[in-house]
Order: sequence, then C-alpha cells, then structure tokens
Amino acid sequence: MIPHSHPRYYSLSERHALETGMRKGITHVQGLLAHGRGEAFDYLIGERTTNEARKAIRAAAAELLLAERPVISVNGNVAALCPGAVADLAKAIGAKTRVEVNLFYRSERRVRAIAAELKKFGIIALTAGGKNMARIPGLQSKRAIVEKGGIFSSDVVLVPLEDGDRTEALRRMGKRMIAIDLNPLSRTAQRANISIVDNITRAMPLLVMEVKRMRAWKKARLSRLARSFDNKRNLKASLLIIRRGVR
Ligand code: ATP
Repeated sequence: MIPHSHPRYYSLSERHALETGMRKGITHVQGLLAHGRGEAFDYLIGERTTNEARKAIRAAAAELLLAERPVISVNGNVAALCPGAVADLAKAIGAKTRVEVNLFYRSERRVRAIAAELKKFGIIALTAGGKNMARIPGLQSKRAIVEKGGIFSSDVVLVPLEDGDRTEALRRMGKRMIAIDLNPLSRTAQRANISIVDNITRAMPLLVMEVKRMRAWKKARLSRLARSFDNKRNLKASLLIIRRGVR
C-alpha cells in the first residue's frame, strides 16, 4: 500500500498499476521503459496539466464529437493505467463499440488479456482477429494489424501512447490523429493533428469532462474550435515549459 501522504504518491501508484498490468499479462516489459521516458518529461513539466495541454484537450474533444467513426486505440499501458477513463470516453462520444486493442508488440494472449480488462468496464473491444483483420499500408510485421471495422475504416483515431511510424502511416491513410504523449519531441507528437502533452492518467478524465461539456454544442462551433488549433505552435509552447522546468 502506498500512503496518500507520500510526496510521489501518483507516480508510485502508476508504477504499481503497470506492475500489476505486467502480472496480468496486459503490459509488455517495453511498456515499462516507455513509461520511464514519459515520467522524465512529466517531471520537467511539473506533473500537472498545463494550459497548452488544456487547449489541446478541448480541440481533441471537439474533433471526437465531430467524427463519424471515431476509434479509441488501447495498448498495454493504457489498459493498465486508465481502463475506466477509456470506457467513460467511449460512452461519451458514442464509440462504445469502437475501442480497439492495438499493440506494437502484438501477441494474441496479450490482446485477450487487455480485452478481458476492458470488459470489466463494460467495453467489448475490437481485436482484429480472423476475418476482421486488415493491415495498415506501408508498415511491416504485426504492428500493421488493425480491425477492418475499427481503426482501418475510422476517420478520427485517439492514440493515447503510440509509435511515430504508425501515427504517420495512419495519417497517410487520411485519418485525423489525436495523440496523448508527454514528449513534445516524439515523432508521434510531431505527426499527430492534435497532440496532448500530458500524462494520460490526468488527460483522459479531463477529455471525458470536456466531451460531456461540449456535447450540446452546434457542429459549426465545434468545427471552429477544432480547426483553430495549431499543433506545431502548441508543441513549441510545451517545449518552452520544459525548458523552463530544466532551468
Ligand atoms: P515515437 O516513436 O513517437 O518517437 P518514442 O520512440 O519516443 O516515440 P515509445 O517508446 O514509442 O517512444 O513510446 C513512449 C512514448 O509515450 C514517449 O514519448 C513517452 O513520453 C510517452 N509516454 C509514456 N508514458 C506516458 C504517460 N503515462 N502519459 C503520456 N505519455 C506517456
């Protein structure tokens, strides 16, 4: 048990959740390394949601509400760290049937373990099995595998934690990509249309809140908000915060 009073309570709880995820066969050992990289950036931005991240979250909420076939992509770290928020978001944007298990290091066993975890939160995940499987053009190996009726035919994909190559390949397919990534320099953050530079454990609940707040908005208003977002500028501003953090 980690005491609430511990100054690094949240960080330790996340590590504990990933450790449990490993034991359940949800999280890959590479996921632990990826989390470490994320933690380093989180430390530098002050382990808080910045104004820049809030702007990106609002733009992402608008984009998800405007989408016709939005998909939420879930990997081993996401399933270990915030499965409840994934389910809440899916319900809020009407994509309860479009949550897809999408793994860089794909194994059928891990896909099943993640799907079982999501089921506890009322989500029957897409798993790109059998005849539902499609491939992202231009990518080799198992990381090209996606679901035909999911990511493959989506218009907007939320990728909380993703690899830069895949983000780029999905953009080439014409999809609008929303990333959550603590590193504003990562290829994912640079390639996505909207990059939320924040910890997924903080960003996901805020995203759910914004979607619920904006659900009654007219399309034109949502469109204005989504289109006025400038990702490059937002990333530059996040980088400045990190530079200040280093100083
Ligand atoms: P890219 O291919 O996009 O350049 P990368 O090779 O730097 O990414 P990966 O190992 O593919 O990194 O993925 C880890 C990414 O996820 C890192 O950019 C890291 O900052 C980010 N990350 C890790 N944990 C979290 C978290 N809890 N919240 C948000 N981002 C995170």
